[in-house]
Amino acid sequence: MVDVLVIGGGNAALCAALMAREAGASVLLLESAPREWRGGNSQHTRNLRCMHDAPQDVLVDAYTEEEFWQDLLKVTGGITNEALARLTIRASSACRPWMQRHGVRFQPPLSGALHVARTNAFFMGGGKALVNAYYRSAEALGVDIRYNTPVESLELDGARFVAARSGAERFEARACVLAAGGFESNRAWLRDAWGQNERGEWPADNFLIRGTRFNTGVLIKHMTQAGADLIGDPSQSHCVAIDARAPLYDGGICTRIDCVSLGVVVNRDGERFYDEGEDFWPKRYAIWGRLVAHQPGQIGYSIIDSKAIGRFMPPVFPGVKADTLPELARQLGLPETQFMETITRYNDACRIGTFDHTALDDCHTEGLTPAKTHWARRIDTPPFYGYALRPGITFTYLGLKTNDRAQVHFGGEASENLFVAGEMMAGNVLGQGYTAGVGMSIGTAFGRIAGTQAARAAHKTREAHSAAV
Ligand SMILES: Cc1cc2nc3c(=O)[nH]c(=O)nc-3n(C[C@H](O)[C@H](O)[C@H](O)COP(=O)(O)OP(=O)(O)OC[C@H]3O[C@@H](n4cnc5c(N)ncnc54)[C@H](O)[C@@H]3O)c2cc1C
Repeated sequence: MVDVLVIGGGNAALCAALMAREAGASVLLLESAPREWRGGNSQHTRNLRCMHDAPQDVLVDAYTEEEFWQDLLKVTGGITNEALARLTIRASSACRPWMQRHGVRFQPPLSGALHVARTNAFFMGGGKALVNAYYRSAEALGVDIRYNTPVESLELDGARFVAARSGAERFEARACVLAAGGFESNRAWLRDAWGQNERGEWPADNFLIRGTRFNTGVLIKHMTQAGADLIGDPSQSHCVAIDARAPLYDGGICTRIDCVSLGVVVNRDGERFYDEGEDFWPKRYAIWGRLVAHQPGQIGYSIIDSKAIGRFMPPVFPGVKADTLPELARQLGLPETQFMETITRYNDACRIGTFDHTALDDCHTEGLTPAKTHWARRIDTPPFYGYALRPGITFTYLGLKTNDRAQVHFGGEASENLFVAGEMMAGNVLGQGYTAGVGMSIGTAFGRIAGTQAARAAHKTREAHSAAV
């Protein structure tokens, strides 16, 4: 029998497997994806949010525990467990040397990205390189890895883990770490969570999934039925407006469309529906998925003119381009008359001040609903561009309740040998909202704790067993 069974194959699972192995446990990791798709959503990441009191290798200035905590408090609106949040924050200051020992490399700060160079450490080669480094290190240390092995259920004895089942196979272990991500790729579950709208549509049918297709939440559902304590709202998810041409799964970060605040966004009826200039784009991009999800057909169209070109990161696929606005409407399949009325009304309402995309400038509309409160400039300089947008789900918030030892709880009772890490428990720290890089901070902190605790629990069981025989 193996000491520690790790279920999942992303960052949290790998951190747990490596720590358990380093603590002397025998470890088996079960990843539901085939080898070429291993690594879950972690393969799509770019960075990790890190606390530091002074400059540290790739991190400039300081980002104190208090500032990190205040940032978390703000984005979650208080829906967070302070003790677990602070534990995550402190762990984020000390984990990088360990990560480096397992082959993860960090990128020196890019010029022009100083605000993130202070708070976030970027992985050289992105999350894919991080995941590959961890797999390499795990193999070298003797962690047994099985791909194509989706676990469907656990055998429990009260709050105690006994075995996991995948198809006809049964895997016994002295301790287990659950790190199988959220349920964002379970389309039926998303459909249930979002329900039917007043137009009779099922909005979730038009959602795209930014990450892996393998996070189907099977184990969250199973653990719910088994009586585990849950945390987080099933109807909440991190949802971004992405390029409507993105693939259904695994489009990753390059499907983002970042020109919303430089123009206007209309729905399929050719009407605007929200203030595109409410705040800086990095602070607003995560609300646009939900905004588009509430529009007819769950589609929106970001419209800019040539003045915007060069001021945002260009998307992978070029936009639809036209020399006139009516031609743009025709190419995008929008009702031309309504579209032209919307743009004309918007253009007439623009009160041009001093345009400055790096500040909350004074270019705004007057007498228009909804208003555009910053960066409002007339859309009048050809060529014109349009990008269709769809809601893109990043991750869900529902997970298992845990404590500072990453234990799974059943009716308030902490399991002695079943632990949880990563997105499956992130809701304890991040009940809603998001701040860049915190998903990997949580997964790294709790993956490492869960691995250590699982190795300890397995050791205890082994000792108790040898004392008994
Ligand atoms: C496009 C994108 C960009 C992102 N960028 C960042 C970023 O830069 N920084 C950041 O902090 N966060 C980012 N995130 C969020 C981040 O990906 C997650 O917070 C983090 O990866 C979660 O790690 P995890 O190990 O819990 O889950 P995952 O990495 O998703 O791993 C879950 C694993 O479990 C496996 N699995 C699922 N079900 C089963 C089962 N039943 N049996 C066996 N295995 C199973 C999956 O195959 C997968 O390997 C991003 C997310 C996306 C989608």
